[in-house]
Amino acid sequence: MRDFSDIELKELLENDSPETASDLAAEADAIRRQYYSDEVYIRGLIEFSNYCKNNCYYCGIRGGNTGAVRYRLTKEEILSCCQEGYDLGFRTFVLQSGEDPYFSDEKICGIVAAIRHEHPDCAITLSIGEKPRESYQAYYDAGANRYLLRHETASEEHYQKLHPKEMSASERKRCLSDLKEIGYQVGSGFMVGSPYQTTEHLIQDLRFLQELEPDMIGIGPYISHGETPFAGCENGTLSQTLRLVSILRLMFPYALIPATTALGTIHPRGRELGLQAGANVVMPNLSPMRVRKLYDLYENKISTGEEAAQSVDLLRKQVVSAGYRVVEARGDVKRDKLIP
Ligand code: SAM
Repeated sequence: MRDFSDIELKELLENDSPETASDLAAEADAIRRQYYSDEVYIRGLIEFSNYCKNNCYYCGIRGGNTGAVRYRLTKEEILSCCQEGYDLGFRTFVLQSGEDPYFSDEKICGIVAAIRHEHPDCAITLSIGEKPRESYQAYYDAGANRYLLRHETASEEHYQKLHPKEMSASERKRCLSDLKEIGYQVGSGFMVGSPYQTTEHLIQDLRFLQELEPDMIGIGPYISHGETPFAGCENGTLSQTLRLVSILRLMFPYALIPATTALGTIHPRGRELGLQAGANVVMPNLSPMRVRKLYDLYENKISTGEEAAQSVDLLRKQVVSAGYRVVEARGDVKRDKLIP
């Protein structure tokens, strides 16, 4: 587990040279192999509602975007996505949505319990935003194992620039600590290159993750969306995101780190480059084709091609050509080295 000083981090985050990136990636790859060999885990992502009561300034499905076409999947549709995913070899399902009040705790628990009943050998991951502790507990008791909630930015001052005043970094952190205490495998993370982000903010993000010690860490470049207050803001870069993936792998050798959809959106080989920089998870889309374009977080989000779960054979080949292997497993976190 590498500890970098703030000065080292600043230098690595600001140094855009290809040599720095390739040195970091080589070191990160060596460490990932000590913990995870060449294994890549796949998660079937089901984006089951794009309704959202929040108004995050960067997000295309923010409640205030009246131009967004909204949809919800039924419980039966969600279960049929899981069955399709199971048949394709997925052993983790990630249920993600906006913060949609229609999906009461009772409904979420009903969906989780049904998946748990039909697929007892699978992990169920929720990514449905900020909730009271009791709700998190109820989902856990119904059979959910993992929860993804990016902290977005650890700095309260930066958080306030990205969100309306009803939202706060401290509430986000409260959620993450409740989730951990309940016993979830917890994922957090942030956008790279979000508006107003400085190198110091990124260092604060890494320090916050060191305190939290999450099992999963998801980062992706910020990508602008035309129907948000940040329309036209510059996107995060491929190179800084890849360097950060490598830094994360070195600082958190045990972590499950996805090569995210956003990375695949800003570069045609973004996901493979993410794996070579130290990521070990890919989350193909299992949502029904008719809704994929509607879960429109940012411009040009890849949604109808190779990133889809149905293209898993192609994904397997791409992963092999990148130097790794997709395995059919739940892909739980490995806190210890394979060979001590
Ligand atoms: N509502 C849940 C939540 O807040 O955690 C899950 C859905 S939310 C849309 C999932 C993630 O999308 C956010 O954590 C955010 O980091 C990312 N996201 C939203 N807008 C984005 C953008 N414009 N560019 C890149 N990532 C974005």
